[in-house]
Amino acid sequence: MFCCLWFFQSCGVIPMSRLNVGSILFYVVMLGLIYKERLLLFVVLTFFEVCAHMCAAVAFVGFDFGFQIVLIGICVLLFYSEYIARSLKLKYVRSIFLAPAAMLFYLAAYLISIHREPPYLLPPEVKQFFQIIWCVVVFTIAILILQLFVYVSTRYQESLSKEVFHDKLTGLPNRYAMAEYFTRLGSGTSAESHWVAIADLDDFKHINDTYGHNCGDYVLKEVAAILRKTCEDISICRWGGEEFLMAGVNEEKMTLLERVRDAVAKHSFVYEGRSLHMSATISMAMFRQGQSIDEWIDAADKKLYEGKTSGRNRVVA
Ligand code: GH3
Ligand code: MG
Ligand code: MG
Repeated sequence: MFCCLWFFQSCGVIPMSRLNVGSILFYVVMLGLIYKERLLLFVVLTFFEVCAHMCAAVAFVGFDFGFQIVLIGICVLLFYSEYIARSLKLKYVRSIFLAPAAMLFYLAAYLISIHREPPYLLPPEVKQFFQIIWCVVVFTIAILILQLFVYVSTRYQESLSKEVFHDKLTGLPNRYAMAEYFTRLGSGTSAESHWVAIADLDDFKHINDTYGHNCGDYVLKEVAAILRKTCEDISICRWGGEEFLMAGVNEEKMTLLERVRDAVAKHSFVYEGRSLHMSATISMAMFRQGQSIDEWIDAADKKLYEGKTSGRNRVVA
């Protein structure tokens, strides 16, 4: 602002230097608005000041100085201010309604410049200098802000999808993540070699009832860690409650599931100094041609019932 004042003063563009003095006073008032946290008013008034200022500059020295390019930059800043205000839950102006005003100012500046010769003719070097300055300033603002939007929105998307597809307690994928796995499988041609297995903890309710819910949570986290360690190449998820679902294509499935069962049964769960015992009943079902995913999982679920009624802590296929 002070540079512009000095520049217009030294070039003899007196109306513009006066306008700059006015702008400096205007921004002093704006600092007061920021201090009083009247940010909405600050954004709107600043937006119109910049638009009017740039339009006046074009009217006095001509379109070739590129002052109108700033109107594009101010639009980008306007959207950014809306984004910040929305994120901080402050009052905001809807940029989509205000930004077209900058376009109207741009068009007004252009129409003025084609219908009327600028009253102040400045040397061409000054013109080139301003074109370069505005180009650098506006592109830098646009690039930085757009990059920020890309970064923030992708980070947000990533954290959202992690939240949606992962179980908070165990950190394992949840059943929605598994649904993605089954959808991918559905579009494949040879699902026949695929199997699913449900591991259901035995008498888990007893743990909750005897030692409390936090102890139950501890056991679930420990079992999740065992599954992560034992089932390296297959998809696992917390299907719900104290049930975990495993799915894969490997031939050695029974050996693997037996290893999982054994690992849970042999693991020493120690909660608040107490040693607990836990086991899991695991049921496995192969995919059969013509079956829906629900029917397939249902088949595994039915076998689980068999395992529970025949003594628990076993693998049923
Ligand atoms: P079964 O051997 O027949 O499977 O008996 P069970 O006690 O394991 O099965 P049941 O379905 O009767 O009980 C499951 C319990 O799991 C009931 C529920 O309160 C508990 N549960 C479900 N989700 C959680 C959780 O996130 N944390 C804790 N601590 N308990 C949970
Ligand atoms: Mg259960
Ligand atoms: Mg159970």
